[in-house]
Amino acid sequence: VAKRNKGGYAIYDPGHDERRREHLTLLGELRHAVEHDELVLHYQPKMTLATMKVGAVEALVRWDHPVRGFIPPGEFVPFAEQTGSIGAITHWVLRRAVHQCAVWHRQGLQLRVSANVSARDLRTGESLVETLANALRVEEVPASLMCLEITESGLMEDPSSAQATLRRIRDLGVATSIDDYGTGYSSLAYIKQLPVNELKIDRAFVAGMEVDDRNAAIVRSTIELGHNLGLVVVAEGVETDHELANLQRFGCDMAQGYRFARPMPAADLEAWLKK
Ligand code: C2E
Ligand code: CA
Ligand code: CA
Ligand code: CA
Repeated sequence: VAKRNKGGYAIYDPGHDERRREHLTLLGELRHAVEHDELVLHYQPKMTLATMKVGAVEALVRWDHPVRGFIPPGEFVPFAEQTGSIGAITHWVLRRAVHQCAVWHRQGLQLRVSANVSARDLRTGESLVETLANALRVEEVPASLMCLEITESGLMEDPSSAQATLRRIRDLGVATSIDDYGTGYSSLAYIKQLPVNELKIDRAFVAGMEVDDRNAAIVRSTIELGHNLGLVVVAEGVETDHELANLQRFGCDMAQGYRFARPMPAADLEAWLKK
């Protein structure tokens, strides 16, 4: 822990150099990971509740580290966002996700694929849109099969540039989704004018339904809100039959979570779909 005087200067901090060294090592390793294909995408089904069929999949990045094994995104994506290396990761993720979507499309599987992008990617919207447009052209995949998920809080960081980039994504024909909805404190007036297709209710509200009726009320009114705005509503983090039954009762469109399947490699997903 850094010891600081009133002026905020670090006067004695034996951990500082070491942390800085770790930081630089991680940064270098991450750069190496992107360049040497150490990243992998796992795919989690998004179920259409009316039919109980897989309507789409969400691509979630993992780092297959040569020494440490699989590292979840929570351990390197925030770091990459802070250091600016998220752009390279997003570039890789989009190309990979569009490629996988094209492979499935050629196999006759009409699987829509969602990919996650960061707030920072929206601010440098130029390269995001360019990467996406190029990938769609090269892979010859219909743009309507792709969707980008952006967290509600990310959209609030710089609303005007977020809106401009979302519009350009939509102009390509790619769908857009507000992720982790309910945690970002955005206003209805703001959501209403965003060019988005989908609203994903944050896991915390879904999980909370069993313990607190107020969470069920939030989930129900969010579904209503989404429908009134013409959006597809997805519940994330669905783990139990009870949660599923509630969501069906509330008229939720789609659900995703361990109740159905965990995120898995593309080949495992294909096997899972055949069952
Ligand atoms: P997210 O977009 O909200 O993704 C959902 C997370 O919840 C995933 O964690 C998923 O594995 C997990 N999950 C799914 N179903 C359940 C469930 O029923 N119960 C519980 N407890 N968890 C469930 P994961 O894969 O560790 O990803 C964490 C976050 O990292 C994502 O949250 C997203 O914000 C970020 N992320 C993942 N992939 C990417 C990416 O390619 N780019 C960017 N920028 N961020 C990514
Ligand atoms: Ca997501
Ligand atoms: Ca989410
Ligand atoms: Ca999340």
